[in-house]
Amino acid sequence: MATTTYQLLIGGSREDGEAGSYDIVNPATEAVVGAAPEASVAQVEAAAAAAAEAFPAWSRTKPEERAALLNKAADLLRDRMDELVPLVQAETGATLRTTQTMQVPTCIERFRRYAKGALEPTTIPLPPSEMPATALAPGALMGAIAVRQPVGVVACITPYNFPIVNMAGKIGPALAMGNTVVVKPAPQDPLAVTVFGEVLHEAGFPAGVVNIVTGSAPETGQALVASPHVDMVSFTGSTPVGRAIGEVAGRDMKRLLLELGGKGAGIVFDDADLATAIGTISSVWAFHSGQICTAPTRVIVQRGVYDAVVAGLQKASGRMKVGDPLAPDTVVGPLITALQRDRVESLVQAGVAAGGEIVAGGERPDLETGFYVSPTLIAGCKPDNPAVLQEFFGPVVVVVPFDDEDEAVAIANGTEFGLYDYVFTADSSRAMRVARQLRTGNVGLNTAQRNHEAPFGGFKMSGVGRDGGSWGLHAYSELQSIVWPG
Ligand code: NAP
Repeated sequence: MATTTYQLLIGGSREDGEAGSYDIVNPATEAVVGAAPEASVAQVEAAAAAAAEAFPAWSRTKPEERAALLNKAADLLRDRMDELVPLVQAETGATLRTTQTMQVPTCIERFRRYAKGALEPTTIPLPPSEMPATALAPGALMGAIAVRQPVGVVACITPYNFPIVNMAGKIGPALAMGNTVVVKPAPQDPLAVTVFGEVLHEAGFPAGVVNIVTGSAPETGQALVASPHVDMVSFTGSTPVGRAIGEVAGRDMKRLLLELGGKGAGIVFDDADLATAIGTISSVWAFHSGQICTAPTRVIVQRGVYDAVVAGLQKASGRMKVGDPLAPDTVVGPLITALQRDRVESLVQAGVAAGGEIVAGGERPDLETGFYVSPTLIAGCKPDNPAVLQEFFGPVVVVVPFDDEDEAVAIANGTEFGLYDYVFTADSSRAMRVARQLRTGNVGLNTAQRNHEAPFGGFKMSGVGRDGGSWGLHAYSELQSIVWPG
């Protein structure tokens, strides 16, 4: 059966990839979903040049015009939900429930949120400041304002777990602020992103304001980051790639927003409501097969409730049906590729070799096709076990016991990551006290629910800068001071 070949978007034109195309594989069935365009390095450069050319006029558009285009794009996306949901589902292998609730609708919400963001004030009044008289100038009262200006051309590079949602979270605020963008989705699942390009084109964004390049080879992203037309790189992905991008971007002082890896701690104290703790941890453990950067995958449990928490998590894993992501009762679908499955399996083995005990999962489910790992629980881990220190990005949770609050904080802070931690306790003073000692960008107290107006980002090797609400908008701006006498 012939498959559809999708197209790039460069300077307002839909184009085939000059380097051909490559197949995108459904992670559950291993069947080909479609062919993604393989951009040449010259096309990447042309996309960045088109964005640079479009920037001066776009940056001067009225906020209302930018808001109207973002809302129009959200409307068109809503109209194409029936096409996008199955496409995203097929290329990511996400369960139907995840795709219908999160993978597609969230992207529409993000566009609506940043349509409002385009209307937020960009001028900040400042108090006048009195200058002392000097030999060179008489004393004067100086007035000032600070103005948020767009940065310029933003390279938006995204990971595979939520392809269009991650992209919307970048281009929504970047466009709202008056920047132009070049989008480079992950090689594993870029098809819906290219459809998104069609939608933005149809919505009426001027030529060159949004450009989309895809490719299977590392050269695509590398050429984009290195392009002299790019002023800022907004990257979500792994810590090693973030570091490599930072090194290249730093040479030209390109602005950076880096959202990187995580190894979330879920600290469970003796007094916690165990049903809440176990339920919350299990819900994120299973969500999108653990391919989520904010999951509490290191469960750090006080000894008094250790056996109860391990037993509760083991029982919960038994209820996570693994298999066909299209079946309504499936909880855990496949991982994105065979490579990622193998990587997860070898880290499980390393965890066991370092003394961890598998109490659930640990084996491949008996399915004919697909890149599956059963929900896996490794208990009795020491804080220096590689399975405790390294990110799985799969359905694996490790459990580490602790005796007192200081030890819990030390274990939680004991990795290079600092993205999202969780504290489960009935004592609200302790919850706040512990949260403030955690070297992490985000803390959930007895919950895994997010507030999307809160700043989101990482401490340590989990990233640089903040996304979320107005923080996300301001990340795509430069601050300019304008000062005058009087
Ligand atoms: P990845 O391997 O880092 O790739 C992410 C993107 O970077 C892909 O588009 C990739 O495309 C591109 N890339 C790789 N090397 C590059 C380079 N040198 N220059 C420019 N671009 C480059 O990440 P992933 O495996 O897709 O996603 C999983 C990771 O993302 C996990 O570590 C997870 O924690 C993290 N993540 C973080 C957040 C957050 O908000 N903090 C959210 C979601 C995911 P090519 O491979 O084709 O080059």
